[in-house]
Amino acid sequence: MTVIIDLDKCGHISNCPGQGLCIQLCDQKALIEEDNDVKVIDENCNDCDLCLMNCPNQAISKS
Ligand code: SF4
Ligand code: SF4
Repeated sequence: MTVIIDLDKCGHISNCPGQGLCIQLCDQKALIEEDNDVKVIDENCNDCDLCLMNCPNQAISKS
């Protein structure tokens, strides 16, 4: 599965109500900050779904 960040909903890390909560929650380092956006490193993701369940803007999905 691939984690997808909807950048329209995310609104960039500086505007995140959780101050980049998804990055803090991902202990696999599959989500990193790049130019104020969230970048996904697919090969590190273990499908734990913590980021999906906790994003305050529901900006994260998987396909
Ligand atoms: S938790 Fe959601 S709104 Fe916050 S940076 Fe991550 S994807 Fe964006
Ligand atoms: S599903 Fe889990 S491992 Fe994958 S990006 Fe989200 S928090 Fe990280």
